[in-house]
Amino acid sequence: MPITPATVAAIAEAAAFLRAGSLVAFPTETVYGLGGDATDDRAVAAIFAAKGRPAFNPLIVHGPDRDAFGAAVIMDDRAARLAERFWPGPLTMVLPRRAESAVSLLASAGLDSIAVRVPAHPVALALLQAAGRLVAAPSANPSGRISPTTARHVADGLDGKLAMILDGGACRVGVESTVIDLSSRTPTLLRPGGVTLEALRDILGTVAIAGAGQSGGPRSPGMLASHYAPALPVRLNATAAEPAEALLAFGPAEGATLNLSADENLAEAAANLFSMLRSLDRPDYRGIAVMPIPEDGLGLAINDRLRRAAAPRGV
Ligand code: AMP
Ligand code: MG
Repeated sequence: MPITPATVAAIAEAAAFLRAGSLVAFPTETVYGLGGDATDDRAVAAIFAAKGRPAFNPLIVHGPDRDAFGAAVIMDDRAARLAERFWPGPLTMVLPRRAESAVSLLASAGLDSIAVRVPAHPVALALLQAAGRLVAAPSANPSGRISPTTARHVADGLDGKLAMILDGGACRVGVESTVIDLSSRTPTLLRPGGVTLEALRDILGTVAIAGAGQSGGPRSPGMLASHYAPALPVRLNATAAEPAEALLAFGPAEGATLNLSADENLAEAAANLFSMLRSLDRPDYRGIAVMPIPEDGLGLAINDRLRRAAAPRGV
């Protein structure tokens, strides 16, 4: 689909929405993405709320070119070669997060790595250029439904939850991007997709396949990322801190060390979750006590993460 003057105007409008923290669905060559400013915790929380997913999985962060990720992640020589060969295109690379990265910790579900991609779609590239910021985007479908390859699919699933749907026609590839983890020494395929394993091996040599050779067979894609867990013990459903514990509050609270949301707003709590856990996770405390979070809306995903953080280690 060519970029018409109407499309140019729509792209400018969509870019303005993104800069204002609103959500925009946009076409890529793989599937339609549900985009929000990747550096805005609130916008990223809104993505999870719109998808209605009961857990936070790390999102792919999109940029208009390789240089756009320079301040966010560390690109080694392997990443540079893959970028050279496959970007723009259906390849997502998981790379180490830079300490000073502005990307929301919620977008990477608290991990020390960030998944990045440059999509090969003229409308997506123009949007990312115009927005002038990195855009976090999972597929633009409600949780549990199939990925959308037309603007109509997006409207059918997410109507009313987005500021705008940018129509770029039908997606060319239709399957999701290949995800390769380059955050450690052996490159590991996390998800098969638009770029083949053979093509990756041509450039990288050895590529391991996540889950291969482990008991229980391959894990599902959403389970591939390891989970962020604080070093300190986490105690759930606390009403107050015990001596030397930090209190991570929700709602009105006395003695809160930090408050996920003083006015009990679950989107605000989601936006704050990973950054607050990280800032409390230091040896001045002997544990983190977390007040109860309601089990509805984004509370499901927040509690899922908190339960994982509180689970016994080494399992
Ligand atoms: P989707 O957004 O639905 O296209 O899915 C993104 C995929 O990338 C999921 O399989 C995630 O588990 C994976 N992913 C994203 N970020 C990371 C990361 N930092 N580490 C590992 N896997 C990731
Ligand atoms: Mg998806």
